Amino acid sequence: MSSEILTYRGDRVVGDKKIQQCSVYLPTGAQCHNESVEGGTTCQAHGGCMQLAHANNLELRNFRLTKFRADIGRLANSDNIKSLRDEIGILRMILESLINRCGDVTELLINGAQIGDLVGKIEKLVASCHKIEGSTGELLDKQILIRFTDSVISVISTEVADAATVGRITDKLIEALKET
Ligand SMILES: [Zn+2]
Repeated sequence: MSSEILTYRGDRVVGDKKIQQCSVYLPTGAQCHNESVEGGTTCQAHGGCMQLAHANNLELRNFRLTKFRADIGRLANSDNIKSLRDEIGILRMILESLINRCGDVTELLINGAQIGDLVGKIEKLVASCHKIEGSTGELLDKQILIRFTDSVISVISTEVADAATVGRITDKLIEALKET
């Protein structure tokens, strides 16, 4: 091994190949000479594979959490209620100006069908608006549940090392939340 030159801590050159050396120091005081696993800082003998598995698990758990938040975030958004209110406002203005244009009962009767039509439309919009507002109220309660579930998943992710198990638990929690 005369071609071996220690470049700086952690790296060495063997022939023309630069390898990342295991970062563990042996009881003799020398640095472990093995190559560290790809993406890790130690060799296989010094837990490099465990390191990688742990990193992969963390990544997978973070992915689950991100996906969970994205899934739930879509539920919590309701811009449609604002536009419904706008539509109700517009229809009410049209109705008002239509009635104002009628000078007497005869004109009111002539425009009766159109007025009735507008009143019907407003009624329908107000009903849908109330319906959405009702479910928005439920969503607010759900927000609290979502935040709690989020914490639960975080705790489980920290305490349980097996990513597959965490995945199954997360999926079941999300299912339960959707059914609530
Ligand atoms: Zn080593």
